This record gives sequence, C-alpha cells and structure tokens, in this order.
Amino acid sequence: MIILIFFIGGLITGSFLNVVVYRLNLAESMFAGRSMCPHCKAKIRWYDNIPLLSFVLLRAECRDCKGKISWQYPLVEFLTGLFFALIGMCFFSLTDYQSWIETGFLLVLFSALMVIFAYDLKFMEIPMIFLWAGIGWTLVFYIYFDAVNFSEFASMFSSQTFSGIIGAFVAWVFFFSMAFFSKEKWMGMGDAYLAILVGLTVGWPKIFLTLVLSFLSGAIFSIFLILSKKKSMKSQVPFAPFLVIGTIATLFLYQAFPQYLKYLF
Ligand SMILES: [Zn+2]
Repeated sequence: MIILIFFIGGLITGSFLNVVVYRLNLAESMFAGRSMCPHCKAKIRWYDNIPLLSFVLLRAECRDCKGKISWQYPLVEFLTGLFFALIGMCFFSLTDYQSWIETGFLLVLFSALMVIFAYDLKFMEIPMIFLWAGIGWTLVFYIYFDAVNFSEFASMFSSQTFSGIIGAFVAWVFFFSMAFFSKEKWMGMGDAYLAILVGLTVGWPKIFLTLVLSFLSGAIFSIFLILSKKKSMKSQVPFAPFLVIGTIATLFLYQAFPQYLKYLF
C-alpha cells in the first residue's frame, strides 16, 4: 500500500518535473498558468494531463491539433514513479523517524537528478542551477547524517561527507580529463560537472560501480540505436542520462545487496 502511494506520488512529481524542464528552457515561471500544447498553444485539459494514462489514451497526439507528444514525457513520469516506489521499498520505514529524513532527502535528490536526466536528453545541456542545488542539498544532509552516526564510524570512509568528497574528486578528474583531452568529443564539460554530484552522492568506492553501470547502459543503448539505424556511429548521444541511471542504480543495489557488493567495489 505504502509502495503504491510512493509510486503514484512519483508519477505526479514526474509530471511536474516535465513542466519544470520545459519551462526552465523557456525561462518561464514554474507555477504560472496551465500547461499548453507546444504546437497549437491550446490549454491542456485536466483529464488529458493524467500521468502515463493520458499519453496512452491520446495515442501520443494533442487532442486539438494532433501534434506529436514526445515519448520523453511518459518516460520521465514512469521512471520517477518507479524510483519513488523503490525508495519507499528500500529506505522507508513507518516507525523509524530517521528513515523519514533519509526518504525525504532521497526524494528531493532523485527529483533533481530526473530534471538533469530529462533536460540533457531534450536539450543536450546540463541545467546548472539544479546541479548546484543538488550538490548543496546532498552536502547538508551528509553532514547531518555524519553527525548522527558519528559514534559508529569504523574509519574515515564511514563518513558520507568524506567518502562523498573523494568520490566527487575522482569522478570529476576522470570526466574532466576525457573532455579536456578529446576536446569535448567523447564527453562534454557539463558531464564533468555532473560527475561532481554523482561522485558526492555515491561516494568512494561505490563510484566505480556507478561508472561501470553508466558506461554499460550507455553502450547498450548506443548499440540499440545503431542497430535500429536511428543514429550513426558518429552522432552524439547525451551521456548525463546514463550517469543519472548509474547513480540511482548504485544506491538501490547497495541498499538491496550490501553483503555481495562490499567485496566487489
Ligand atoms: Zn496541440
């Protein structure tokens, strides 16, 4: 039941995040007025604005002008719903108030990551305001978690702040060098900035698993695109979405299978 509430909450949040991405690009206010169709400017009716469901019922077309609705809208809604449900499943416990704080922290962080995911997918650019907000948000909570758990530290790396900063540094050096030496052909400088948030979030040594998962998912997706002839070998695929997926997968995998991953990464 709780998981279902998290899932539906995620769908609604995802729907809002789509609006944030769209309006951030146009520099419009996030809360002003109803959403409209980008093709014919008709206001979207409330019953055509239901996450996932409306996209299917409308067969990906605007009711007024039959203009195409991008598949990115339901994708972001579904992923946000899925991730929220997983947070509720893996991190949340009704009776443990500390888990409420951790859950709240993760819901906001994941929302920021989803905005970066969707924005880079759509505009091939990292929204810096969300990136720095995510970094600040994560730092504040890691310092707080450290203060709460301080008495149980086994080593320096038990500190989420410390391992986060090391992880951020390693990830940044890695992506910055790739962008720098390839003159931004392999990787953009925006990815190097995103790597700071990614490294901070997962920390050392989990950052290695994140890098493996990111490149693996990126490679699988590229092969799929080349095979389906949507892109040639040379065309650019934005990398930030895969970094976001790698980060989120790492957090869940470590929460679900800590005993196996401890020895690997
Ligand atoms: Zn329209």
